[in-house]
Amino acid sequence: MERHEYEVVLEEYRLKKTLKWLERKRGRGTELISVYVPPGRQLPDVFENLKQEYGKASNIKSRTTRKNVQEAIVKIMQRLKLYNSPPKNGLVVFCGAIPRGPPGSEVLELYEVMPPKPISLSYYSCDDKFYVEPLIEMISATEKFGVILVDNSEATIALIDGKTIQIRDELTSGVPGKSSKGGQSARRFERLREMELNEFYTRIGQHANDIFLPLGNLNGIILGGPGLTKEEFKRGNYLNYQLKEKILAVVDTAYTSHQGVKEALDRASETIEKMELVRERKIVQSFLAEVGKGSGLASYGEDEVLKNLRANKVSTLLLSDALDVSKIEVMCSNCGFKEIRKIPEEGLDVFYTKLAMERCPKCGFQPLSISNETSYLDEITKIAESTNAKVEIISSRTEEGTMLLKGFGGLAAILKS
Ligand SMILES: [Zn+2]
Repeated sequence: MERHEYEVVLEEYRLKKTLKWLERKRGRGTELISVYVPPGRQLPDVFENLKQEYGKASNIKSRTTRKNVQEAIVKIMQRLKLYNSPPKNGLVVFCGAIPRGPPGSEVLELYEVMPPKPISLSYYSCDDKFYVEPLIEMISATEKFGVILVDNSEATIALIDGKTIQIRDELTSGVPGKSSKGGQSARRFERLREMELNEFYTRIGQHANDIFLPLGNLNGIILGGPGLTKEEFKRGNYLNYQLKEKILAVVDTAYTSHQGVKEALDRASETIEKMELVRERKIVQSFLAEVGKGSGLASYGEDEVLKNLRANKVSTLLLSDALDVSKIEVMCSNCGFKEIRKIPEEGLDVFYTKLAMERCPKCGFQPLSISNETSYLDEITKIAESTNAKVEIISSRTEEGTMLLKGFGGLAAILKS
């Protein structure tokens, strides 16, 4: 099945969230385990390795830490047994005892992550935190862009693969500058010059086609250069139509060299960001239009939206990025009192500290503990995913985004008509 661009974007967004969430987790001791299994690795080797680590762990002095490490290793092995061989991009498993409150409240948690690209790292780590950095780096490095810089005399074709800039081709036209002579010969000179330029553009187009067409996963193309040449190049049919459709931005640069590529990237990222905001604004506007028309196709309020979502009635789900909060279930171990609190990422540290000092509002018992912790955004996107609703994460940086957040609680939907 063909995947839509937004699905890929959404998937990466979700993975990023999960990793950030895992990054914050801390063990009470050196007892959180991360295992990286690259695609080509034989699983029996991995088991052998884990068995050795299990043995080494018996030397750990703290009885609790020793028990937690060994239990985590066993749990990882159980998980890996579900596979005959590593998935096509490899596999990363995180496992460890995460404190939920006072000592003794730890719960063994296991997370399995499928990398978006094949990993080459074969690694075991046991620390007081999970080793998520390689995956975070990988996500920020998965994007591929083509850059074409053009002017009358030179052209550069580059590929941006994650953070690296590869200059793939540099061409020169040999076309002379504008004529200074007058009369008949000047017109002839001009015609010749145009023909030569046309040839030059054709050559650039062919080279760009040869370089970019075989790459199936190109995110977009940025066209740049000084002056109007790039516009002429874009208007003409020099570039294959599939590539032409991928042009994300046409930007002015002072150079057509390596330096120009960096310039084009900076300018383009501003343009792309603006385009993304314009797109988000349009989505919110179409939701507001449904509200205004009273068509019955606008849905808002958490209960209402979730009800429609579960009934498979939602066409587009609008989620404010400000809803990126942890949903924490607080519990009293004495009387069984339970309460759900939504805490934004930046408030979590304060929340944990304060919770330790809080008394149960029902029976006065202290301390309260955490019985469950999930990402709110994750939870909702998962429901949406199971119903084929299109999910749009709306940033709160635009006026419309703020309206969605303040006026509709950050959660709304356009229903299927
Ligand atoms: Zn209580």
